[in-house]
Amino acid sequence: MEIEVIIGLEVHAQLNTKTKIFAESPTVFGASPNTQVSTVCYGLPGTLPVLNESALKKAVEAGLALGSSITLFTKFDRKNYFYPDLPKGYQISQYDKPICVGGKISFFLKDKGETKVVNLTRIHLEEDAGKLMHSADPSIPFSYVDLNRAGTPLIEIVSEPEMRSSEEAYLYLTTLKSILSYIRVSDCNMEEGSLRCDANVSIRPKGSTEFRTRIEIKNLNSFKAVKQAIDYEVEWQKDQYARNLTFPQMTKLWDANALKTVPMRTKEMAHDYRYFPDPDLPPIVLTREYVEEIRATLPELPQAKKERYEKDLGLPTYDAEVLTSEREIAEYFEITLQYSKDAKKSSNWVKDEILGIVNKENISITEFPIEPKRIGELISLISKGEISGKIAKTVFEEMLTTKDSPQSIIQAKGLSVVRDDKEIERIVDKAISENPEAVEGWKKGRDRVLGSLVGAVMKESKGKADPKLVNDLLLKKLGPLGPKS
Ligand code: ADP
Ligand code: MG
Repeated sequence: MEIEVIIGLEVHAQLNTKTKIFAESPTVFGASPNTQVSTVCYGLPGTLPVLNESALKKAVEAGLALGSSITLFTKFDRKNYFYPDLPKGYQISQYDKPICVGGKISFFLKDKGETKVVNLTRIHLEEDAGKLMHSADPSIPFSYVDLNRAGTPLIEIVSEPEMRSSEEAYLYLTTLKSILSYIRVSDCNMEEGSLRCDANVSIRPKGSTEFRTRIEIKNLNSFKAVKQAIDYEVEWQKDQYARNLTFPQMTKLWDANALKTVPMRTKEMAHDYRYFPDPDLPPIVLTREYVEEIRATLPELPQAKKERYEKDLGLPTYDAEVLTSEREIAEYFEITLQYSKDAKKSSNWVKDEILGIVNKENISITEFPIEPKRIGELISLISKGEISGKIAKTVFEEMLTTKDSPQSIIQAKGLSVVRDDKEIERIVDKAISENPEAVEGWKKGRDRVLGSLVGAVMKESKGKADPKLVNDLLLKKLGPLGPKS
């Protein structure tokens, strides 16, 4: 029997605001425990939450970028449960009036040659909880509470159960990450927990329209883990059905060491959250103008950018993909292009030379020592025939350490192309007299020897001779190519 896999993802993204969603305390990652906290984060009686407008704005930006409709009358609700990392006894979240409704994420399925669209159910705003730190030392049998993370703003993006493979889930997540990074609302770092994903998985016979029991998998802290956990879970469920075993709806944890999903709690044991409107926070009423003002500030999104690079700049799909993979790379490329006026050459330099170094050194392109303007100038010097491509590499190496402009390096080192006919003639004559066997070859019809003679001239001139002049002069001096013998 053919099986269809059903996947729906719930993604939490931390919004990169300076302060928390309902308090003034900072949101710095990796600080010493309980240093980024205020009385509100501790949930002390009598303290009151005040909404951080920046969090609200970033949630609206995310919704607009993902094609959601923005709810103009929205409110906060209390989600009640007891856990030591949640001192108030409830999490402030949104229940029936999420800030964004609908929306979609689309990505290209290479093997099928088609674009897949996954619809979003909703995006809501909520606060993060604190973190428990368990002692690894058996002689200290304690757990500690760190509330630094408590109150960090989150958006939860809930998809419809429309993904059909772990590969689709992976592409959904990477596309979502790319969009949220482009609009700079989240750092989207899965390892640091600023992007967290829960995967809901079920299977059914292909052709069936009814959903069967789903399993929710938590603790997925890398893109790879998401893929592996879904694949593992699909196999587990197949096995259950094959053996006529039923299982309840439950939450499982991904064990990245054992490479398997393990049960955490069944839905029957799950909490009844008793949602109700938070009386400490007034509802939020947004105007259309406010939403449209935000929409107008959104940057060009990765997919639109990629299409424009292919259509308007004539770049190959692969180049467009690499250059738009991060907004900072695209920005670097666009400034380079502004000065070089040559899209393909700029693309080659950025994706090969610059990203080569950036990836090797594991830095961000914003930390790369040469400004894009300088790379653009360098390329334009090659296009104008001022320097050869080979010399350009030497100038580039020099730019990496001195940060000087390419023009001043070329001048200081005397690297510009030699167009002095007399000087080139001298070198050409020298090459001819030093390579009698090549000249013999030419007379015997071996046209390949021309290349080796050009090479000899270029070497002697240290790459500075104008290649076209060299070629013309050599042909003149060698005379007609002899008949093949
Ligand atoms: P809950 O509040 O219990 O987490 P939701 O209605 O919010 O439930 O759904 C959570 C996620 O589960 C959504 O992303 C949804 O697409 C997904 N989902 C729902 N039913 C199924 C199913 N049968 N198989 C896989 N995923 C599902
Ligand atoms: Mg849920």
